[in-house]
Amino acid sequence: MSIRVLSPEVASRIAAGEVVERPASAVKELVENSLDAGADEIRIEVREGGRRLVRVVDNGHGIPTVEAALAFERHATSKLTSADDLEHIATLGFRGEALASIASVAQVTLLTRHIDEAVGCQLRVEGGHLVSQEAKGAPPGTVVTVENLFYNVPARLKFLRQAATESGRIAETVQRFAMAFPERRFSLVSDGRLVFQSTGSGRMHDVLVKVWGLDVGRQLVAVGHTEDEEPQPSLAEAPQVAGYAGLPSLSRSNRNHILFFLNRRAIQDRSLAFAVTEAYRNRLMVGRYPVAVLMIELDPALVDVNVHPAKAEVRFREERAVFRAVQKAVHATLAEHSPVPEVRSEGLSWAMPGWAERREILLSAGQNLQPSLALPREQVPVNSQQWSIATASSSQVSPRPSEPTAASPQPDASDMATPTAAGATSDSNLPISQSTPAFPILRVVGQMGATYIVAEGPEGMYLVDQHAAHERILFEQMLGEQAGHGVAQQALLEPLVFEAGSGYAGLLGEYADALAAAGFGLEAFGSDTWLVRAVPAVYSRVDPRRALEETLEGIADGRDLVGESKEAALVAVICKRAAIKGGQTLGLDEMRQLVRQLEACQSPGSCPHGRPTMLVLSRMQLEKEFGRRG
Ligand code: ADP
Ligand code: MG
Repeated sequence: MSIRVLSPEVASRIAAGEVVERPASAVKELVENSLDAGADEIRIEVREGGRRLVRVVDNGHGIPTVEAALAFERHATSKLTSADDLEHIATLGFRGEALASIASVAQVTLLTRHIDEAVGCQLRVEGGHLVSQEAKGAPPGTVVTVENLFYNVPARLKFLRQAATESGRIAETVQRFAMAFPERRFSLVSDGRLVFQSTGSGRMHDVLVKVWGLDVGRQLVAVGHTEDEEPQPSLAEAPQVAGYAGLPSLSRSNRNHILFFLNRRAIQDRSLAFAVTEAYRNRLMVGRYPVAVLMIELDPALVDVNVHPAKAEVRFREERAVFRAVQKAVHATLAEHSPVPEVRSEGLSWAMPGWAERREILLSAGQNLQPSLALPREQVPVNSQQWSIATASSSQVSPRPSEPTAASPQPDASDMATPTAAGATSDSNLPISQSTPAFPILRVVGQMGATYIVAEGPEGMYLVDQHAAHERILFEQMLGEQAGHGVAQQALLEPLVFEAGSGYAGLLGEYADALAAAGFGLEAFGSDTWLVRAVPAVYSRVDPRRALEETLEGIADGRDLVGESKEAALVAVICKRAAIKGGQTLGLDEMRQLVRQLEACQSPGSCPHGRPTMLVLSRMQLEKEFGRRG
């Protein structure tokens, strides 16, 4: 076949497929138009999953009669005038494609009256052709009726799912708009039945309760704002994050309940979803995902929403800043509301969820009591009880003695029976009282699985994760050195010639100062080549090339790059790689030394990335489990 230019009709039908993939996309485009028109009441009606009919009724400013037909032309929009406007898009629409696309694959009726005009007009467009236009009386606003979607695109029709599935997607679409615009009223009627309605109260929480129910609503806590002060859009340079996040008691089996809105536009972003799940690390079971609805506000000049026709994907100019802002906001909320192993005194309260409670649940469920206590996930009580205790305790974080306890003598058994310690065992979830040091003195008993140090302490049995603990120790040591005379270095006898390749060269340039501050002695040596004269002393036992490569990989990966400054973040990356790994057998003396050093840390309860360094199994729990106590 010879090459021919497609007829405009075929071309527009192909293009339409990108904007209108399914009925829910038509709903999305039409509601965006209503919102852009300033409507505060938007009614959506669908039949047969939107295939038969999609109708959106709004009370926005309407379209002037002389422009009504133009609205159906491709690339006809009232929202952009020059290419410069693309730099700061403040409306939801801007491509001027939606009405043209929908009209090319359906039968569309537009009834609209502009606020400044006395009568409205009605237009009918079928398969992209205007078939009629007449004056018609109507209240100000716009009604767009889309019938028989894809009637002329059989291939697309075949791909549509059952009506119920399509209706579900439509409901989801409408609910997301309601979340992002809580001050506007939305209603959705499907096959004559009211399936969703928002009140327009202005409170996002009200919408979330409507969508997910009161039980979920109770387990959502405010992110970046207080409960009664709702997030207000403010276009700042730095990304602002607000919304709601679920307590760890609330979890789902997939990421579908992690929602993002950028300047009120629903967006999909895997990396941001990762930022959220990271913040929940160790708070949720493996395979469980949090619930979170986050509104990100950012100067429109710093985002490109014009990446995809459906505008669901965006590109951030400074992606990392957005990632960090999200992670920080969620992290701060969780630290405040749920038991966190990061604050010193709470490091101890990170007990395993009550074993006795689990046993009760098991027994009442008529199951055999297995030592492994494998429970259906939903039943494991990582619950509000723990949460409330931790909240109450956060105000009484006990100050660490300023002198490290490294010099404390090894305690004997009698030390552990002090009245305070005994008192503390009455509820293992309570933080240690003010009079005891924030970190217990531990007696090392042995090693388990070459990974955990088993120790005895005032509250009971402790398991210390040797890798996490060492990471914490190295981290504080290096930060201390950074703040003082500089990080200890290991000079190389012969400088190493490091050919970075273009991938690493960029990172080396970007992180040159931070790498120097962390103890790397680097010198530029021709294009993309560096001389390595020294490495951080913590890497002294590692091949210097590998040390640098692993560090750069850590930067590129970005996951461990979390900290208050670039320097601290890099130190965290290095410590993770330099620390003793799990699976490494340690001698008793080595383990004792590790535990002593951990005791001397400022924040011994967690590694720099927030994972706990230890778990405690209290005496009381042991006694209960062994049936020594009722
Ligand atoms: P875009 O939204 O990208 O501008 P559309 O094809 O969705 O493109 O709409 C074309 C134009 O029609 C809009 O720019 C707007 O001027 C007008 N329009 C569409 N829907 C409405 C509505 N519900 N209320 C007022 N004007 C509308
Ligand atoms: Mg539009």
